[in-house]
This record gives sequence, structure tokens and C-alpha cells, in this order.
Amino acid sequence: PDLSTIRNFCIIAHIDHGKSTLADRLLERTGTITEREMKEQTLDDMDLERERGITIKSHAVRMAHTAPDGQEYTLNLIDTPGHVDFTYEVSRALKACEGAILLVDAAQGIEAQTISNLWLALEQDLEIIPVINKIDLPVARPDEVAQALEDLIGEPAEDILQISAKTGEGVDEMLDLMIDRVPPPSGDPDAPLRALIFDSIYDSYRGSVVYARVFDGTLEAGDTMEFMSNKKQYDAEEMGILRMGRQKVDTFTAGDVGYIIGSIKDIQDARVGDTITTAHDPAEEPIPGFEEVKPMVFSGIYPTETDDFEELRGALEKLQLNDASLTYQAESSSALGYGFRVGFLGLLHMEIIQERLEREFDLDIITTVPNVEYEVEVEEKGEPKTVTVDKPEDMPHYGDIEAVHEPYVKADIITPSDYIGNVIELCEKRRGEYGSQRWLDGQTVKLEYELPLAEIVFDFYDNLKSASRGYASFDYELLEYRESDLVKLTILIDEKPAEPLSTIVHRDSAHEVGRKLAKKLKDVIPRQLYEVPVQASIGSRIVARETIKAQRKDVTAKCYGGDVSRKKKLLEEQKEGKKRMKQMGEIDVPQEAFLAILSVD
Ligand code: GDP
Ligand code: MG
Repeated sequence: PDLSTIRNFCIIAHIDHGKSTLADRLLERTGTITEREMKEQTLDDMDLERERGITIKSHAVRMAHTAPDGQEYTLNLIDTPGHVDFTYEVSRALKACEGAILLVDAAQGIEAQTISNLWLALEQDLEIIPVINKIDLPVARPDEVAQALEDLIGEPAEDILQISAKTGEGVDEMLDLMIDRVPPPSGDPDAPLRALIFDSIYDSYRGSVVYARVFDGTLEAGDTMEFMSNKKQYDAEEMGILRMGRQKVDTFTAGDVGYIIGSIKDIQDARVGDTITTAHDPAEEPIPGFEEVKPMVFSGIYPTETDDFEELRGALEKLQLNDASLTYQAESSSALGYGFRVGFLGLLHMEIIQERLEREFDLDIITTVPNVEYEVEVEEKGEPKTVTVDKPEDMPHYGDIEAVHEPYVKADIITPSDYIGNVIELCEKRRGEYGSQRWLDGQTVKLEYELPLAEIVFDFYDNLKSASRGYASFDYELLEYRESDLVKLTILIDEKPAEPLSTIVHRDSAHEVGRKLAKKLKDVIPRQLYEVPVQASIGSRIVARETIKAQRKDVTAKCYGGDVSRKKKLLEEQKEGKKRMKQMGEIDVPQEAFLAILSVD
């Protein structure tokens, strides 16, 4: 095979800068798909993805393109997830490529994910081709954006291609430029096999379908594959390339990209980032960079109806088949009954899972406030020990705690200069430590802050948007665990600890948060037949107290002995209203209460 006519590339961009639209144009221009077959955003095949405009899972498509000199090229377009929560998956998809088109919206300019994706691509040594998109927009300012790109990556502004993925203008030139600049894959077809798994999907008939890029060697249908991280072996029953569907081939060699099917029943066996080799001629070293993805954000998910517990388990099981990064564990809470502690890569990941549980599985669920994982140093019987805490309920006894460590992130925030003040104020309020500030163009500034992850999983993004009239964007990467003066704020309802409502906060803001949280809970928990105190405490010290007044009248009281149908109707209404309630002790607590902390400023 002639490697010199293969190009493996991807498109990286901030969300909404036109990645999917450009991918559609490429499929069209290369005749991979006819216009008739073309639906909007063909590559995003999940409804949810399409609605949110987010490509959650990466895919790969092979296209053919004839360059101006008459030479035909094989192009493998590898789609990468655009969001920070999926950084590791992005990095593996990038690793499968030699080059990246860095697409920037001519009106929006450089945004946070432009930069974070650029860094990831540079880390993988990719050839970067900056391209300015949406030049058909009346508000486009391509020359300014080109200048900002020159300042960022050193590419002369006048050389940067300007296109419209919508009208197709400049798209052919872009393909030719890409072929010219992106190096062909290199690799030894005769060496032992090394193929990188950059994605996988689960097919209920065929098991895990693995997407892989071959770096060295050759794989033939029927060979026994071995996954290097876990030594699991499967036969390569079927393999092929992806156009708009699967297309079988008999052999893969260095430079190829495609799918492999091998009756892999457990998706944990074939993980993104792992290297496939063959059993008969195993490679010595895997492709570097394999990591076990670790959930960063945790939340409790409980069925509103206790009976739905097994159904919820089944739904999580199904979701996990396609999403190895989703973790869950059954737990029981004195207050909420039986449910699951679920680990997510980040907040967006969490939202996606919750939404799918409700939409695709039609489950009514209660989710508790998301939290990060803490490392807590305790002294137990005179012995120092570190415990990992992924829910406030498990926080060791106040008096035993020596120190608490929490994850910190480095955040890049890009904002129009008018809003710098607001953004800085927000970051300071979230315990951010200022890093640096840099002008990207005459009106845009990049701020760097180090922030506790816990402070950004709490609605940071929404606040950033309102602080900047929607213009600022942000992205983050994990730094390390750092010691912080954190305490558990326990909420008591009717004098009993309501653990799922408890939260871990910085000591300096504990009183204020306690007061506001108690007040918010007083407002959202319905009145009972008797007076119910709501309190917040640190250790044994009460720091806030509110009272839910007693209900004035029983809604059905006036119906006793009266009109039966009216009583039934009222009861039904009450039941309806109860749907998203969860009984804690004798008190019905609405979903809103479990998320009350999120609306405390
Ligand atoms: P993605 O999030 O990067 O995949 O972005 P999409 O491809 O979904 O595009 C986001 C929005 O920008 C959609 O409404 C597209 O129709 C629009 N869009 C993409 N490219 C262009 C372009 O060249 N010109 C104009 N006017 N709109 C575009
Ligand atoms: Mg998209």
C-alpha cells in the first residue's frame, strides 16, 4: 500500500464554529454522500447531540479526493468530541491523525475551546491548518480574526484560508491545502501490529465495535487480536472502513483507519487509548498515552418511585455499554432510599446522562447536588490515614479531620475586554487564583485562573455567561489536589440530619451558604401539618435556622363526606404534584430542594 496518498485528519473548533457543517460539505464534495442522502449534520447521529450541537462520540469517515495534479488521495476524517469533559477521548482521536484543521468562526473569533483544542493538537505534534469559517456572515471580521490567529500560532495572517462551510466557498482549496501540508502516515507494515483504539460503540448484535488507527503492522480478518492493557484476546471477525456505513475489508495495514468487530461483549475490555496487537506476533510496547478515565464529578441518582430501582439499574447498564467513562454504584441513603452514586467526567456529561435517563428510559429521577472527590486526612485511633470522599455524607467526623484536599483546575477564560472586571469578580468569588492575562486581539482577552473544580461544577458557566452577556467562553484542565479549609455543612430538617442536602464548602463562606441554603429550603419544601425547623450546622454547631410554618388547612378536609369525585380529583392533583418529591422521614421534599445549593450565590 502507498502510504503517501493517505491523509488522516480532523477538524477542531470551539462549539458552533461550524465543524459539523464543514464535515457535511466535505462528504458532499468528495462524493462520499450524495446531496440527496445529505441530512443536516450527518455525523451527529444521536438526537441529543443534534439538539445540543455537540458531537459526543467521535466517528471516522473515509473519503476519496482527487488533487489538482490528478493524484487520488484517501482521506480519513476523524471526528472529535468538542467539549472539555471528553478531553481524553479528544486526545486519542487527535493521536490517530497527522493533521488538524483549526476552524474559527469569523464573527466570534478565537474562543476558549479553540485554544484548548489547539493545545491538545500541538501536544500530539499535529500539523495545524488554521481556517476561518463563516465569511458569508455580514458581521464576519475575517482579517481581524486572521491577525489574532497569527499572533497565537505564528501563521502569517494573509496565508490563512477563509471559507464558508455553509456556501462551500473555499472548501476545495482547503482540501488541497490540507493534502499539501498534512504529512502522510508513516509506519512499518511488516512490524508487529500496533493499532490505537480511538473510539468504540456498542452494538447489541455484534458487541463492541472498535474504531482504530493502525500505526504499524498488518491485521488480517481472522487474526487473534490482543488488547495490550489487559491482555484480553478476541478474533478479528470483521473489519472494514467507514463511509456512510460499514464497508468490509480483509486487511488493515499501517496508516489505515477503520472499525473492527470481534464479539467483544464487555466494553471495558476494549478501551479508548488502548493498543491492539496480534497474539501471534505481539508488539513490545503499546502506543503511549493510555489512561484509565476517572470520573471527576459525582451525584446521587434516585428513582422517585422506589419500585423503579431495578429499572434505573437496567438503564444505567445500557448507557454504560456505550460510555465506558460512566461509573455507578448502588447506594442507599437513609433519606432517599435505594439509588446510585454515579460518576461523570464533568458537568455536561452529567446533564447528558440525566436527560437520557428521563427521555430514553422514561424514568422519574431525583439527582443530588454534584460534588467532586475529596482526599481527607484523618487521625483514627492515633493513626494518620487518608480517605477518599465522593459524597458529603461520607465526610469523616468533624473532630477527626486533619486536612482536606480538593482538585484544582487551570481555567482559560476568553472574554471581550468590556467584561474583564465582571469575570475577575466572578473568579475571585469562586476562590480563583489569578494566573495571567493576554490580549488576543484589540477587543478580546484571555485570562488564566486556577480554581477549585468544586467551584466550577456549581453553575460557573452560567454565571460566566451572564457576567459577559453571553460572550465569554471557558475551558479547563485538571491540575492537582490542593489543601483547602473545607467543612461539611450539614442540613437538618425537623432536627434530623438530611444528608443528601448536606454539602462541603469553604469555611469562610460556610455561614453565609448555610443561611441562604436554609432560607431557600424553607421556601421550596411544602408546609406540613406542623412547624418544621430547617437548620444548617458545622460539626455540632448550628449556624443557621429557618422555620417552615405549619400548613393552614388540609386540602381534602372540606371534602370529607362531601362530593366524592371532587375529593378524588384533589388527591390526583396532589399525586401529580408529588411526582418529583421524595419522602424524607415524614416530609415530602421536592427535587428543587436537592439542587437548592446550586442557586445559592
Ligand atoms: P459545530 O458545533 O462546530 O459542529 O457547528 P455546526 O456545524 O453545528 O454549526 C453551528 C451553526 O453555524 C449552525 O447553525 C450552522 O448552520 C452555522 N454555520 C456553520 N458554518 C457556517 C458558515 O460558513 N456560514 C454561516 N452563515 N453559518 C454557518
Ligand atoms: Mg457539531
